[in-house]
Amino acid sequence: MIGVLTAIFGGTFDPVHIGHLRVAVEISEALDADVRMLPAPVPPHRPQPLATAEQRLAMLGLGVHGCARLYADDRELRRAGPSYSVDTVVELRGELGPETPLVLCIGADAFAGFATWHRYEYILELAHILILTRPGSVDRVAWPEALRAEAVRRRGGLAELREQAAGRIAELAVTPLAISATAVRTLVAAGRNPRFLLPETVAAYIEQNGLYRSGSVRD
Ligand code: ATP
Repeated sequence: MIGVLTAIFGGTFDPVHIGHLRVAVEISEALDADVRMLPAPVPPHRPQPLATAEQRLAMLGLGVHGCARLYADDRELRRAGPSYSVDTVVELRGELGPETPLVLCIGADAFAGFATWHRYEYILELAHILILTRPGSVDRVAWPEALRAEAVRRRGGLAELREQAAGRIAELAVTPLAISATAVRTLVAAGRNPRFLLPETVAAYIEQNGLYRSGSVRD
């Protein structure tokens, strides 16, 4: 293997909370990887996040601050037009060179729709997939047959993700924390205190910027 194994973990992060950060730490430790967390732009036809892209990125930056090997990566927010995972993977593959393993981390529920992602086969040529599972969350029956077959054909253990640059599909069971960004926004809108669901610095940012207050919640 050449270079540092790099994992990417995307989300809306509106706002980032300790559920996300705990997963990122576990990915980093399980794979001995740098983890880039990428806030996603939300397409115009979908409900928009309450915080601006800049605010979501700022909160993510505060959240990862001081966490070894976790990074906020704004490349998807900087991209003009629709943003696809394949574009991110292509870009990173270009930066890492052909031999460094690149791992795209996807929740088990999102993986069920992977075969509908733009150029998903090309993603598998350039990166591994790590399916993040929580107890009871892997409903393989919901996966289309072709995807199930692909997952079996490409299945690898975590160690195998280090042996080649791309093309394996592995799973990682992560600690389930019953926290969602929706719950954080709802608490703040109700005038309640979100402390300990997210880093103190992120809670302070929300307070200082008046984010998610009553009247602004949408879920
Ligand atoms: P919302 O409540 O606004 O839908 P969210 O908390 O689910 O947001 P996202 O930004 O949509 O956060 O999530 C990004 C990724 O993090 C997704 O893959 C999601 O499955 C995962 N994730 C979110 N919350 C948790 C959690 N508590 N534990 C583990 N993974 C989580």
